[in-house]
Amino acid sequence: MYKLGVDLGGTKIEAVLLDENFNVIKRKRILTPQNNYQKILDSISSLVMEISENVSNYSLGICTPGAISKQTGLIKNSNTQCLIGKSLKEDLENKIGKKVFMENDANCFALAEATLGVVIDFDLVFGVILGTGVGGGIVINKKLYPGRTNIGGEWGHHTLHRDGNTCYCGKTGCVETYISGPSLENHWTKLTGKSQYLPEILTSTDNDNWQKWKNEFLENFGYGLANVIDILDPDAIVLGGGLSNIDFLYTEGKESIHNQVFSDLVDTPILKNKLGDSAGVFGACMLD
Ligand SMILES: [Zn+2]
Repeated sequence: MYKLGVDLGGTKIEAVLLDENFNVIKRKRILTPQNNYQKILDSISSLVMEISENVSNYSLGICTPGAISKQTGLIKNSNTQCLIGKSLKEDLENKIGKKVFMENDANCFALAEATLGVVIDFDLVFGVILGTGVGGGIVINKKLYPGRTNIGGEWGHHTLHRDGNTCYCGKTGCVETYISGPSLENHWTKLTGKSQYLPEILTSTDNDNWQKWKNEFLENFGYGLANVIDILDPDAIVLGGGLSNIDFLYTEGKESIHNQVFSDLVDTPILKNKLGDSAGVFGACMLD
């Protein structure tokens, strides 16, 4: 039994075929057609045909940006906006003529890291995506736990500050509005009047506001993940997404989390991902 995974991203679509021992047999990347749902369906379908050539027995998993509503089966909360409100899973199943397993990128990330990545030796894993958005996924004994209504692990929309920043989800004070890449950049602009991207901000240590910006980031990161630990008490937390490259999250960030947890023993490992960009496509393979 082979495993075929597809990672549908905003800029690229990647597919990989694994054998039963998770060895990579084939792999290919193409650009994502912009603002055209029909063309996205066509691209995924032809990529699957090409990668699965001469292979009859395989499972097919797709990693999508955004969540799949358990109620309607339609894509919601996606930053690839032409997918919103579409029945992507059903449309692909009809087009390809095969059952499709589908999960959002945070869930695929968590599953990939727990199966092939840095948290392979842990039973209960919380996978975190910190990037343009803030997401999370729960994996228990190498199986995804999406929850009763598919919102298990969505810590990005926990309320961190009542009456805080406005969030696109309709609430205020969500974690995502404080520690996603764009919200950290916005906060920097408020403090300094400068419009800069995160990599530049991170090296602006001589700016008078840098320590304040960093302390607030660490505090919000700490409270956000301490809340998760208080409820889930995972064996390990693995960080992914663009912000997972920030080294101080694994030292001062970890300390900030541990300081807020309600326990006399707090030693939850906070680990950097191993698979990087490839987590989505490998996670998609593991969905069956
Ligand atoms: Zn929100």
